[in-house]
Amino acid sequence: MKILVINAGSSSLKYQLMDPDSGEVFAKGQCERIGLDGKLTHRVPGKDNYAEEIAMPTHSEAIEAVLKILVDPQLGVISSTDEIDAVGHRVLHGGMEFTESCIIDDACIAAIERCIPLGPLHNPANLMGIRACQNVMPDKPQVAVFDTAFHMTMPPKAYMYALPYEYYEKDSVRRYGFHGTSHRYVTARAIEMMGKDPKELKIINCHLGNGSSLSAVVDGKCQDTSMGLSPLAGVPMGTRSGDIDPCVVQYLCNRYELSVDEMLNILNKKSGMAGMSGVSSDFRDLEEAAAAGNERAALALDKFAYEVRKYIGAYAAALGGLDVLVFTAGVGENSGQMRERICNGLEFLGVKLCPYRNKKRGEEAVISTDDSKVTVLLIPTNEELMIAKDTQALVQG
Ligand code: ADP
Repeated sequence: MKILVINAGSSSLKYQLMDPDSGEVFAKGQCERIGLDGKLTHRVPGKDNYAEEIAMPTHSEAIEAVLKILVDPQLGVISSTDEIDAVGHRVLHGGMEFTESCIIDDACIAAIERCIPLGPLHNPANLMGIRACQNVMPDKPQVAVFDTAFHMTMPPKAYMYALPYEYYEKDSVRRYGFHGTSHRYVTARAIEMMGKDPKELKIINCHLGNGSSLSAVVDGKCQDTSMGLSPLAGVPMGTRSGDIDPCVVQYLCNRYELSVDEMLNILNKKSGMAGMSGVSSDFRDLEEAAAAGNERAALALDKFAYEVRKYIGAYAAALGGLDVLVFTAGVGENSGQMRERICNGLEFLGVKLCPYRNKKRGEEAVISTDDSKVTVLLIPTNEELMIAKDTQALVQG
């Protein structure tokens, strides 16, 4: 089977054409500046990258450009779009409507629309990608895969906020969590790597990238996660604050005559590693600056490691123990330095990182010592493969 995986943003659209069984990626790329001028970047493994400026007034023209390049005699990888069996879409917020992936029909689209108030930035963009594919490929089956779905197994004590109950009942205000497709993928890989009954495994997943979240998992099912109603909650991130006292919002809004939206923009785009360090949101830049003596960069890295470590401690307590600690995503997969900072101080839980194994980057590996009570795993995430597999499973019924 060949599945086209689409991740549509408001002005961008990423794609991968892949085989869900082998995981082989035939081609991938992205359309940028949709609605402005339009640029397509296309990569085929083993060939030179290709970039072209193409007018893309809407997502439909972007999808048309993707299909055109996929069948191009020189740059393409298929002879006709008939070779694409189905399309899988990443959708940010499934609210309480979706506990798993679903075939896209009118009812599914209506439910994604009902979730727009919960995901006001992403869901409309995801819908634009879905509608563009429906326009351009009306006969292809399509599937929606939700960032929130994996976390829907959380018990009420984990997902409820201690607010007046009617906000949950009437307005669906609760913890949802994000990066679910990544947490689901690494959970499945961790269970396979451990070769044990999932019921026996208490797992904490650390998805540490530009956006970061942790999840606590037993029997392959999510019990708690660090992001909340929105992806702003949890540990500090590249540009997001993570958890803060809500009164900070009121205090700063009053002091600087900011609207709540302006303050939220600061919390989302100007805080986190970038805000604390004044250097960058990028962990490579921060590690370099800290090594060169920049104290605020060092502080930001210290704060990040401290908050991640605190969540690991909290989740070990929530699960009543810990068997497996997983690191994934850009920082988790690549920064041995950050993994070491985080694990430093977790010896009391039975975490013993092996300094030699921890030098590994971007490949599946056990990075704890043989006598570590907790197995620490490095697992590169693959959300696209998960989307392709869900799409295949649903399309094949
Ligand atoms: P996103 O949340 O946008 O998907 P990624 O998972 O791609 O983000 O992670 C991006 C982050 O990973 C960036 O902050 C980048 O600095 C960091 N990163 C990538 N490679 C390294 C590395 N070798 N060392 C430290 N950080 C790295």
